[in-house]
Amino acid sequence: GNGLMAGKRGLILGVANNRSIAWGIAKACANEGAELALTYQGEPLKKRVEPLADELGAITVGHLDVTDPASMDAVFAEIEKRWGKLDFLVHAIAFSDKNELDGRYIETSRENFLRSMDISVYSFTEIARRAEPLMSDGGSMLTLTYYGAEKVMPHYNVMGVAKAALEASVRYLAVDLGGKNIRVNAISAGPIKTLAASGIGDFRYILRWNEYNSPLKRVVTTDEVGDSGLYLLSHLSRGVTGEVLHVDSGYHVVGMKAVDAPDI
Ligand code: NAD
Repeated sequence: GNGLMAGKRGLILGVANNRSIAWGIAKACANEGAELALTYQGEPLKKRVEPLADELGAITVGHLDVTDPASMDAVFAEIEKRWGKLDFLVHAIAFSDKNELDGRYIETSRENFLRSMDISVYSFTEIARRAEPLMSDGGSMLTLTYYGAEKVMPHYNVMGVAKAALEASVRYLAVDLGGKNIRVNAISAGPIKTLAASGIGDFRYILRWNEYNSPLKRVVTTDEVGDSGLYLLSHLSRGVTGEVLHVDSGYHVVGMKAVDAPDI
């Protein structure tokens, strides 16, 4: 890299393993000289995340579960103690009960609806509020969304409703924080085979469909999402906020199945 992110410090939430989208973003930022702090969700992920952090010369700042306020208190206290400030934040967290990412959206239970909204939507607002006072020199916040927010996608169900709310919250947060030169954006990533995606029914079919029908005729990689994340977290995007950037091989512009797409 050329040191695009030199002197910048960022908190990355949502690395579970080396297939995580958050990991692609972390690599891109570290390669440009950013100093990173990673969290992990619970002890089982600790032993996966720590070696990854080491690879990037990043620090780990403990367990963070967005349903556990004490864990967020501890992580932000640690950031405050170690760095005293923050330049950027990545939120790559979502959850729904797997059983409801199949079949009909109408069957969504109140319990899973509220839990999905809490973990996948409210958490970004709460983390943004906690990060705001640390971004005293301005900053950039980024979350991850999916086209299922805009159009009905098979099996995405309650996550589609949650992502629509997440995208709306990006716009509201952008206005709340713009006066402090804190920017808030989202990347709408095309389908990628990660741990979270393994909960979605017929995921292989969805990957194939995107491959055959997107303008670039392929699916995107975590590294590609990482590079676009780098843009939104760096000063190159300093005039951009409240935006949802599609990093999906252009799939979102297509209105119809490609005439030459094979039957899958
Ligand atoms: P992933 O499984 O690697 O990452 C999901 C992360 O969410 C994990 O690190 C997990 O620990 C974390 N998480 C879940 N519940 C949490 C909680 N209560 N507290 C703290 N962390 C919690 O999968 P991913 O695909 O990299 O997902 C990252 C983001 O990208 C998600 O918001 C997802 O919806 C979004 N996204 C994924 C795709 C895709 O096809 N993979 C496409 C578009 C958007």
